[in-house]
Amino acid sequence: MQVPFYGHVKQYHSIKSEIDANIKEVLESGQYVMGPMLARFEKELAAYHGTKHAIGVGNGTDALWLSFMALGIGTGDECITTTNTFFATAEAIWIAGATAVFVDSDARTNCIDPAAIEAAITPKTKAIVPVHLYGQCADMKAIRKIADKHKLFVIEDNAQSLGAAGDGFKIGELSDAMCTSFIIQKNLGTFGDGGAVVTNNDQVDRVVRRLRNHGSEKRSCHSYGFNSRLDDIHAAVLSAKLKHIDEWNNVRRKLAARYTAGLAGAKTLTLPYEMPGYHHIFHLYVIETSKPEGRDQLLGFLNQAGVDAKCHYPIAIHQQEGYPWGKDARIAGPIPNSERNAGCCVSLPMFPELTEQEVDFTIEKVLEWDARAE
Ligand SMILES: *Cc1c(COP(=O)(O)O)cnc(C)c1O
Repeated sequence: MQVPFYGHVKQYHSIKSEIDANIKEVLESGQYVMGPMLARFEKELAAYHGTKHAIGVGNGTDALWLSFMALGIGTGDECITTTNTFFATAEAIWIAGATAVFVDSDARTNCIDPAAIEAAITPKTKAIVPVHLYGQCADMKAIRKIADKHKLFVIEDNAQSLGAAGDGFKIGELSDAMCTSFIIQKNLGTFGDGGAVVTNNDQVDRVVRRLRNHGSEKRSCHSYGFNSRLDDIHAAVLSAKLKHIDEWNNVRRKLAARYTAGLAGAKTLTLPYEMPGYHHIFHLYVIETSKPEGRDQLLGFLNQAGVDAKCHYPIAIHQQEGYPWGKDARIAGPIPNSERNAGCCVSLPMFPELTEQEVDFTIEKVLEWDARAE
């Protein structure tokens, strides 16, 4: 049996008529950039999150740095985040001209550890940038409390957890801006690149709208800006898919529960942890081996057996070659959890179109490896 890591084409086929109809509407409208389909999707995305605004942009990285810029975060400012994330989190901080300060992640959730944040705050700190990693939202209540106490902004990197929720709060509710990505491999993905900022902050809404479109609010009038727009054809795909996101996320949760039940007896593996009262939507189902050598062995074993397992992310940002490339980045305090996560993580196949047979086959192979591991 071959178990793939993605189900993009299967997903397209499952709602083909809805996607095709939306794309046709755009093609026939003659309005392909900043048109009515984009406006419609932005309205739907804001309604989904219960926020005042949603602004479509070119990708998730732009969503982050445009938000930083809209909040006045730039040269000389520090943003506290984690190193066990996709590279773009730090990249966006650097594009805005600010300094990334890395603290450790929580041992069980792998999201930023609120207990590590306060010690890293300096007079230059402007923002906390939690990443809702693998589909689980970070401890936003604790993060918001620290931010309020020290008058800091919170910008959520939510490229991985659209539709997840915390214990009594929604993603996007406790921050100044929430940023997401619509590249195809995310839970809500288009057939290409895309991103959005979701916010209740009127200034962020106004400034990001202006910055993404050459600094223009009115035809022919410009201030400083860029080109980072979400094309209407992508908005068409996303509008069709947004109607299914909760149903797809729930299938992910069910498949995750099947993995967790099947792998419960493994002697050398750590399984994903869901915080009490949280709604984890399993963008990825990430297990950890007890040692980094074991990770490479398990990954090789699974790939050999036909299971397309991967790693997110085997090289943490501070471990990348050439770090910090002259950027003024800094690690505040020890970061053993982030380094352990990077060294030992394995992502098992996880997408809504994955079958139970494919999950069971993957479980069987993982257990076969575990039985022989030390
Ligand atoms: C995918 C991702 C991004 C970047 O999104 P792009 O659309 O590729 O720019 C940022 N942060 C995290 C955590 C991601 O997973």
